[in-house]
Parts: sequence; C-alpha cells; structure tokens
Amino acid sequence: MTRVYNFSAGPAVLPEPVLERARAEMLDWNGTGMSVMEMSHRGKAFVSIAAQAEQDVRDLLKVPDNYKVLFLQGGASGQFAAVPMNLLRGKKQVDYVNTGSWSKKAISEAKKYADVSVVATSEGDNFTHIPAFETWQCNPEAAYLHYTPNETIGGVEFHWVPETGDVPLVADMSSNILSRPIDVSKYGVIYAGAQKNIGPAGLTLVIVRDDLMGDPMPGLPSILDYKIQADADSMSNTPPTYGWYLAGLVFQWLKELGGLEAMEQINRRKAEKLYTAIDNSAFYHNPVEVSARSLMNVPFTLADAELDGLFLKEAEQAGLTTLKGHRSVGGMRASIYNAMPEAGVDALVEFMVDFEQRKA
Ligand code: PLP
Repeated sequence: MTRVYNFSAGPAVLPEPVLERARAEMLDWNGTGMSVMEMSHRGKAFVSIAAQAEQDVRDLLKVPDNYKVLFLQGGASGQFAAVPMNLLRGKKQVDYVNTGSWSKKAISEAKKYADVSVVATSEGDNFTHIPAFETWQCNPEAAYLHYTPNETIGGVEFHWVPETGDVPLVADMSSNILSRPIDVSKYGVIYAGAQKNIGPAGLTLVIVRDDLMGDPMPGLPSILDYKIQADADSMSNTPPTYGWYLAGLVFQWLKELGGLEAMEQINRRKAEKLYTAIDNSAFYHNPVEVSARSLMNVPFTLADAELDGLFLKEAEQAGLTTLKGHRSVGGMRASIYNAMPEAGVDALVEFMVDFEQRKA
C-alpha cells in the first residue's frame, strides 16, 4: 500500500491513525459484531458514539453551555440557505462580507430570502486582502453579519474576529474549523462542511446559540430547522452516522495530540515553511497580503505558467497529489489541513526547490 501526500482542498486528507482505527473496527465495532455503518442511529451503541463525539468537539472548541452542536447534512451550501431562514426572524436586512468565492456563494443564496447588504468587499483587488474593519458599513439593525473566516479558493484567512456588538456573527468555518482555538462565545452561528478538518463529506457541523433558535421563516424544511434538530439531538431524520463516527475519531485524535493549542502550533509551523519557501524564491509567488494569508490553503503560481503541467506531473510522480489550483485562480494550491503531516509539507518544499533549480 502506498499513501500519497494529498493536498486536496476537500474532500481532503484524514489522519492516518483515524483511518487505521476505522479499518480495524470496520466489521465489528466494540464487540457488537457489526460496522458502525450498519447500526441503528437509535441503538445504544450509536447513541454512545454520537454523544462522545459531541462531548469531544465541545471540549476541543470549549463550546459554552448555551450553544447547541448539531451534526447535520446538506453541506455548508445547505447552511447558506439555512442561516437566513433560521435567523431572519421577521427582519429583512442582513450584512455579508465578501472576501472570495465562498462569500459570494453565500451571498447569492441569502439574496433569495433577505435584503443583503455587502458591508465590505475585496473583489476589487481579486480577493487578495481583507478590508479593514473600520471601513465596514455595518447595519446595527441587521439580523446577522455573515463572513467567511477562511476562503478556501483564494487562500485568504481572517486572523481577527469582527466585533459586531448585538448583531449575531455568523461564520462559515468550513476550511479552518479546529485548526486553532476560537472563542465560540463571539459567534451566533458557526457552520462547517466536514470534508476538510472534521471528517468525510456528507456531515455538516453547526454550532448555534440557544437564543437564535425557534421562530424560523415559514416554510423552512424541518431538516434545516435548528430548533427541530436540536430538540431531536440532530436525529429528526437519519443522520450521517458513519461520518459522525469518523468525526468522533478525528476529535479524539486531536485531543490526544494536545488539543487545538497544539494543533495551531503545528499548523503555524507547516504554513511558515511553505510561505517561506515561496517568498524566498523569485520563481514561486503567492498573491495574498501577508497579514491575510491562510494557514490552511496556500495558492501559488509559477513564474512561467507554461511549466504548470510539468510541475503537476512531476509532483504526482513524487507522491505529491492534487496540487492544481482552483480553475478560477489558476496555478497551484496546497491545502495543508490538520491531517497533512509536517513531513508532507517538507516533501513539497523539497520538491519545489528542486523543480526550480532544474527549470527556472
Ligand atoms: N464554504 C467554504 C469555505 C468551502 O471551502 C466550501 C467547500 O467545500 C463550501 C463552503 C461548500 O461546502 P459544501 O460542499 O459542504 O456545501
């Protein structure tokens, strides 16, 4: 068996110890004689797996007691609709910050339900910086303010949290959740598709403050209704049981590693190595303003785009895979989520230096 270093933006690399454990338990979880995949979600075994996963993610993120943690489906894209439908509560006005492709998608979905005000945008410079908070045109009457703390495609990350006062702050943390500690109490809603730092695609994590639940928009489907799902322990219908179980294994792996403080240190070290290699070279370039660079997604271009194909081919041969940049940005993108070992980043840097020496 050969494992590669997979730099995919998502679905993405999972921690090897998690995959090993899942493999060991595949046919017989804990003496039950069945796979977790085959269990009733209402049975004792799965209910204990689900509760442990919730407790572990609560511990990792230090989720306060007045927040519910939901394990849902529909992806982050489902939440683009669920957020306005749950949070408008009779209001019409919502604020959005536009820092890239995923912000734009969230905005266009919200426009179906609400009057969206884009309070700040970096589209003018091709999403390579984050507009200074002082320039944001926030509306104190908005039902909420939505932003994307990490733009997976552009590689732009907030290293600060907007202070929105009484207006609930909503964050799409799909590509940086669990990468470092956060203060959950600053948020009204946090949501994330699982397929980067949490587990397999198909699971969506939602953390929602109690007072923001109930009183949804008429016609809201029950499976998107935070209150209904919270009251049903995320089991108003059959939940994504196997994804939930794997997420639980990832949470345990993070705890064993030393929690999010330890994870942050590792992530900072990995990102630093890659950005340093890029900045020390005239051949590679990352367009993002230094203060807004992502620790998770590192886009870069080669000085000669004609060499892109060869770079990707040789990288693949060296066991470094899925480095092609998003079609909207071009070039390369290395996603270095929690589960990417530091040795993977070292191998990438070594390959980049060697490629430059041979081709530049
Ligand atoms: N938001 C961000 C920041 C993302 O990176 C993605 C990508 O997968 C999405 C939303 C969309 O997530 P999903 O495919 O789970 O709907």
